[in-house]
Amino acid sequence: MEGGEKVSKRDYYEVLGVDRNASEQEIKRAYRKLAKKYHPDMNPDDKEAEKKFKEINEAYEVLSDPQKKARYDQFGHQGVNGQGFGGFGQGAGGFGGFDDIFDDIFDMFGGGFSKGRRKSGPRKGADLKYRVNIKFEEAAFGTEKEIKINRTENCSVCNGTGAKPGTNKTTCPKCNGTGEVRYAQNTPFGQFVNVRTCDNCNGTGEIIEEPCSKCGGTGKERKERKINIKIPAGVDTGSVIPLRGEGEPGERGGPRGDLYIYINVQPHEIFEREGDDVICEVPISFVQAALGDSIEVPTLDGKVRYNIPEGTQTGTIFRLKNKGIHHLRGNGRGDQYVKVVVQVPKRLNEKQKELLKEFAKISGETLNESKKGFFDKVKDAFGG
Ligand SMILES: [Zn+2]
Ligand SMILES: [Zn+2]
Repeated sequence: MEGGEKVSKRDYYEVLGVDRNASEQEIKRAYRKLAKKYHPDMNPDDKEAEKKFKEINEAYEVLSDPQKKARYDQFGHQGVNGQGFGGFGQGAGGFGGFDDIFDDIFDMFGGGFSKGRRKSGPRKGADLKYRVNIKFEEAAFGTEKEIKINRTENCSVCNGTGAKPGTNKTTCPKCNGTGEVRYAQNTPFGQFVNVRTCDNCNGTGEIIEEPCSKCGGTGKERKERKINIKIPAGVDTGSVIPLRGEGEPGERGGPRGDLYIYINVQPHEIFEREGDDVICEVPISFVQAALGDSIEVPTLDGKVRYNIPEGTQTGTIFRLKNKGIHHLRGNGRGDQYVKVVVQVPKRLNEKQKELLKEFAKISGETLNESKKGFFDKVKDAFGG
């Protein structure tokens, strides 16, 4: 560091813009003003500001220390050379050393600047969450929804200025627009000059003559906002759609936060979902199962016919290719699986019974003609 800086160092008093007879307080004040102006957080990616900032700090390091100042006054830069400026951001580009000083400085502003502000500068607004319920079919094919969210917008009456339309903002007379107030304090050790955030304008330096009646001078307003969202085919419960920049407004010129749409898919009365496949059950009669038939199967695209082969057993699963849910990523669809459930008739008339008995006889099946039902037999077995 020292080797590189031997080339024409500026005079420390000149750097801080004070004359050689400046008091401790004047030096401090000058330093604060400049440090605030050139702080890297206020000037992101500004190499020139960064250089200035270092220079200011170096000057202040010397001029705020009575011993170093005395040496400097007598011997110039030579007098304080080799003292080092330890802690002053020697690390590559790091401002670790400055931060400590800044904590002190900003504390002196009476809390007008929070650490958050100093560290982050413009801040992104808060994210918002919104849950959307959609139907099973909407998840399968995608849909568009209009949602209404409540979020903070610029006041529609004053356009975010906080001033009643037709009135002006004026420079705060108490602080002359600087946003800070100096006041002298007498203590047993002498008089101190303190700086604090102007309470007349809350540090903004401006006074609203007549606050906007709608927002009360805040310039902000909670508003319902309609947003159209495109829900892609293939989403499922738990899917999240991010909408960049649709959240709460940022602070100090920061961007808006994001809006996250949480998808909830309502269950279907017929279909179940497994991944991108659709599963359903279709009842068929035992005659259809035995003889085979062309049956009607519900799909997401409407009814289709499917040929059940002879001798189909209950629980058999058929696959209908590409009748499932669209893949969320990539082309194509899942499949539909159809489980057939053979229904046994519950009530038969005499004629039907006759035919079935005849059927059994032809099949070589002997039926137990007992009038007792199954449960009666169980009772008998247990001696009830
Ligand atoms: Zn307003
Ligand atoms: Zn003020």
